[in-house]
Amino acid sequence: MHPVGDKKQNGRLGERLSASGFRFTPQRRHVYDVLSQKLDHPTADEVFMRAKKAMPEISLATVYNCLDALVESGMVRQVQLQRGATRFCPNMEEHCHYYCDACGAVFDVALTADSSFMPRPRGFKIDHYDIAVHGVCAQCAKK
Ligand SMILES: [Zn+2]
Ligand SMILES: [Zn+2]
Repeated sequence: MHPVGDKKQNGRLGERLSASGFRFTPQRRHVYDVLSQKLDHPTADEVFMRAKKAMPEISLATVYNCLDALVESGMVRQVQLQRGATRFCPNMEEHCHYYCDACGAVFDVALTADSSFMPRPRGFKIDHYDIAVHGVCAQCAKK
């Protein structure tokens, strides 16, 4: 644990929350930490299960509320994969998601700032990417 770093993080999270009209709360801090600890794109239910470990009194409704606030303030993004519940990703760099159809794992792969490799309609101005690639991860491919 680095107290200075934590303070900085609180500052950034607090700033982003208040810029979007949200209050900084220990619950929001905690939900953000839970998401940052394991970058495996959990669903809200999974976040709830993890959040409860260190904060047993937190409710599912509060977790949903925290996730909304974090998404609205641009600290976390929602990831929608076919047929699945919404998942959450704290990686705000442009990246695409590689989804293993066998085990459900989701991997982040960074996109370069110059993404001119992407075919796109003439004159199209890209705002952000929402790319999911489906297949089988290395572990599952071995089976
Ligand atoms: Zn991601
Ligand atoms: Zn897999």
